[in-house]
Amino acid sequence: MSDRILAAVMTAPHQPIEIREFARPDLPPGSALLRTERSEVCGTDVHLWHGRLAGVPYPIIPGHVSAGTLADVRGPLRGLDGADLREGDRVAFFDVHRTCGRCRACTVHRTPTRCLERRVYGITDSAAEGLFGGWSQGIYLEPGVGIARLPDSVSFDDYIGGGCGLLTAVHIIERATLRPGDSVLVQGAGAVGLSTIALARLSGASTIFAIGAPESRLELARQMGADHVFDLQSSSPAERLERVHALTHGEGVDVVVEAAGSARAIEEGLTLVRDGGRYIVAGHYTDVGPSSINAHQHINRKHLEIRGCWGSEAGHFLRALMFLERHADDVPWRAIGGRTYSLNSLNEALADAESMRITKALVDPWADV
Ligand SMILES: [Zn+2]
Ligand SMILES: [Zn+2]
Repeated sequence: MSDRILAAVMTAPHQPIEIREFARPDLPPGSALLRTERSEVCGTDVHLWHGRLAGVPYPIIPGHVSAGTLADVRGPLRGLDGADLREGDRVAFFDVHRTCGRCRACTVHRTPTRCLERRVYGITDSAAEGLFGGWSQGIYLEPGVGIARLPDSVSFDDYIGGGCGLLTAVHIIERATLRPGDSVLVQGAGAVGLSTIALARLSGASTIFAIGAPESRLELARQMGADHVFDLQSSSPAERLERVHALTHGEGVDVVVEAAGSARAIEEGLTLVRDGGRYIVAGHYTDVGPSSINAHQHINRKHLEIRGCWGSEAGHFLRALMFLERHADDVPWRAIGGRTYSLNSLNEALADAESMRITKALVDPWADV
């Protein structure tokens, strides 16, 4: 890698993405410089571009989940898996860093994803501080960042195809306390929903339903393991409820996962889950306004368990890698990555992601430069 590192910068919401040049960073002990091979454009990046997330220190280099090759290591540097890391290793890193380990969220409540000190590459790190995002030829991995080697059988495209959605899905399955034989319904067929379908299948779910759009995503949902898919546009909530009841002894589904990010999805999800079932809300990463709930009908009388799911922890990252090592061949994570874009074409990538022409855009920062 040369001393000039090109990165794509989101200067402010609604502004075109700009290519800027950064100096190669000085590395303190315990840090590294990653040569980025793949990053992604996910739904969060579209939210960032629309200015829908609070407290984002624009300008930023987006791309929170990325993978590459260690170009420079100021070691010793040990991976999350315990292995010593060296220059030339193919690695991925956990995008959440600076979780403090001392606050009440971290220690008393054991909910580190709610730590107020926590920062996330590509989202809450400013470009003014350096190479903290994946839409760049190089990423500065500061001391303390969780790094792990990519298993040999996992390509960069496999890993980024799963990407942030896969990490979130590992957390969702954990929050759902999924049991063998549970029926599952996933609302939303984006990256999070698709990975949740795959993990539910591999975790022993019986019948899996998915609701989403457009048809290309529903086809991916089938490939990831959904048995019954509903097109959000061409079927009504009443039709979906009737069909789900017909296939679940008239009860509804054991576990419903909301990965749609729509206030209306909550209203429907509460009707599709069975009495005494579990409802996991994971798609409301931004505030899309209130949902209308009848607490008597939908929660209390149903004896329902509702759980939120925010972010992910290093353990979810490492388990996602272990899952990929075993299942990269039989689950088409790679297919979620619709198209690969260069740094110069990220405005187009954002527009394509926004309009749902693609499920996920991959970024190759070395293409066309
Ligand atoms: Zn903390
Ligand atoms: Zn993401």
